[in-house]
Amino acid sequence: MNLSPREEIDRGINAMQALQRLVPEGGLKNLEKVKGEMDELISPEFEPYFLANAALHLLVVCERCGRCCLEEKGIAVSIDDCRRIARYLDLSLKRFMMDYTRPHELKGELVGSARMLGKKEGEACPFFDSSLPGCRIYSVKPQVCTAALYLSKMNLLTCEEQQKIVTFPICSADEKLRARIANYSLRLDEDAEAKSELKGLFESARSEVELFRLLLRLKGMEIYFGPEKAALLARRLGLARVPEDEELKEAGFLYGATINLLRE
Ligand code: SF4
Ligand code: SF4
Repeated sequence: MNLSPREEIDRGINAMQALQRLVPEGGLKNLEKVKGEMDELISPEFEPYFLANAALHLLVVCERCGRCCLEEKGIAVSIDDCRRIARYLDLSLKRFMMDYTRPHELKGELVGSARMLGKKEGEACPFFDSSLPGCRIYSVKPQVCTAALYLSKMNLLTCEEQQKIVTFPICSADEKLRARIANYSLRLDEDAEAKSELKGLFESARSEVELFRLLLRLKGMEIYFGPEKAALLARRLGLARVPEDEELKEAGFLYGATINLLRE
């Protein structure tokens, strides 16, 4: 079904309004406090790029070409990652740590108990299987691999300096998504009214937009810091749950397209 730019905007707005069902009766709780916690995790100056990268992350479909698993220099794993993967492989945590991980390259508080997968630079990840092709622990892969598409690859500082989202080099999945956004931008050029509305939409104080931005930020936290962190923040807000990816995709697409418009 080919929607006009106007219809896509309406669909996105409807999707944002539908998110209200996650909000408890009486409204969100501890809002300022939770926002403050989020600001500590990702500085607010990077928010537009963090949100856009989170939106793109939801929309892209990784084609599992394996490039990331071959070229990434090192893969950090948290203790939660290790537990989950060890269970999946039917190994004890100790066995998994000894056979598949090594100490983290960095030391100190920031790293905590995180380790690295036993992958050497220039070698494929031990879980990469070229016959699949892809990851043989796909459903339990480390959090950094889940976030790899945009959130761990992006450099927010570069985004801020260049006022645009950094592209993800030589990735067919990324190219397809960018082409979809470029196509939408071209169609918008033929509908000045819709274009002008979209330009102002995410800057507006509409309640559904504010809720969407907050929930997209929460989703970004889930992708970047893991489901436990996001679930905790959602509980503090009194939300029924962290939104599903599908619930954010339609408005997320508009958000991703808007970032391009703002550069014009
Ligand atoms: S390069 Fe793109 S398609 Fe290939 S594994 Fe990485 S994210 Fe997926
Ligand atoms: S754990 Fe899986 S997704 Fe992550 S680098 Fe290894 S093969 Fe790729």
